[in-house]
This record gives sequence, C-alpha cells and structure tokens, in this order.
Amino acid sequence: MLLPSRLTKAEEEYEIARILQRLEGRERRSRPPSEDGELLDRARELSRRYLDGRAQPRSVRWAANQRSRWGSCTPDDASIRISTMLRGMPSWVVDYVIVHELAHLLEPSHNAYFWDLVGRYPKTERARGYLEGVAAAPHLEATG
Ligand SMILES: [Zn+2]
Repeated sequence: MLLPSRLTKAEEEYEIARILQRLEGRERRSRPPSEDGELLDRARELSRRYLDGRAQPRSVRWAANQRSRWGSCTPDDASIRISTMLRGMPSWVVDYVIVHELAHLLEPSHNAYFWDLVGRYPKTERARGYLEGVAAAPHLEATG
C-alpha cells in the first residue's frame, strides 16, 4: 500500500506547485496601475468590492504636485488624485489610498462612519502602518 500513498503525495506536490505558480502570476499582475485609465478601472473595481459600488469616481488621476498628501478628492465633481509618490509602492498600499479617497466621496470627514467604510478594505491597518513608516523616513515630506 506504499505506492498509492506515494502517488497521492506526488499528486499533492504537483497541485501545490500549480497553486504556487498561479499565485506568482497573480503577484505579477497585481503591480500598481500605471495609466490614469487603469487607475479609474481599479477605483471602480475597489468601489464595487468594498463600498457596494456606491462611490462613483468620474476621474482618478496620478498627480505629481501633491507633496504632503498621498491622495485627495473633490466630491463636487467626483475626481480623485493619487500622488505619484505612491508609484513604486506595493499595489495593496495604492489600493488603500484609492479606497480612502473613494470613501471621501461618500463621507468628507474622518469620522467613525468614514473609518468604518475604509475598514472594509482588509489591508487598511497594514497600509496605514506602511505609509506612516514611509512618511517617517527623513527624505520624504509626506505626512499622509
Ligand atoms: Zn482622508
């Protein structure tokens, strides 16, 4: 009865290798969006996934002139700007900033309701910690 169990193990390893390969592929695809159009698509996707699609941005753009903020939004015309300082950062950090600004389209202030919305994004705490760390680095002016 050794053979069947060894076969099963081999099959198991094969499955694991396949899953790892698939995960690697996903990692590669999950780089931050590079174009404004990609950014808008990403924001719509995040709104659908975490905010029931209620935040409906009309434009989401990279902006280089944001020295002290990671992102900003203008609720009047539903436009969002994301700092180009985020470009080299992991996609889950960029996603957090997008979700943060999307939530501002629904709630302008940082009240409990706002953080409740943002908290639906599962990596919120991790991303906030990451950005605080980056902001604490002496060569950057950003404070969040
Ligand atoms: Zn905010």
